[in-house]
Amino acid sequence: MSRKKNKGDRKTLVMSICLRPHHGMCFQFYEGKGYSEDFTDHMGRVIRECEEDPDQVITLTCSTDVVCKNCPNNEAGVCTTEAKVQRYDSEVLRACGLEDGAEISYNKFLALVKKQVIETGKRKEICGDCSWDYICEKKLV
Ligand code: SF4
Repeated sequence: MSRKKNKGDRKTLVMSICLRPHHGMCFQFYEGKGYSEDFTDHMGRVIRECEEDPDQVITLTCSTDVVCKNCPNNEAGVCTTEAKVQRYDSEVLRACGLEDGAEISYNKFLALVKKQVIETGKRKEICGDCSWDYICEKKLV
């Protein structure tokens, strides 16, 4: 959570966006496909809002996040493939030198993932078993 001054100089509490670390990869290849229409509408909106304010500080979290919110695989706050996505999250954090709970600007995080995960070729090792891998893979050749 961060504090922001409004015009009247009164302090307002602003909740920062929580993002699963591996979604920093998904965001860079997203092309509107997903688990349901509700999910893709929501994910597209989240990405647009992040891109409209790229300096905003986000909180990295290895649990269900703002994207998972409208996902049919989110069962009472836990992903049905939790072990797999936890592995993706941990690997992205390790590659970027970050920890669960880290606060970082959206811009900086996406740039780190691009440099440390995508450009090093680690993406395939990390999430090559994802059902959406074919989308990311074709964009890298
Ligand atoms: S599949 Fe799991 S990690 Fe991915 S968006 Fe859905 S609930 Fe979240």
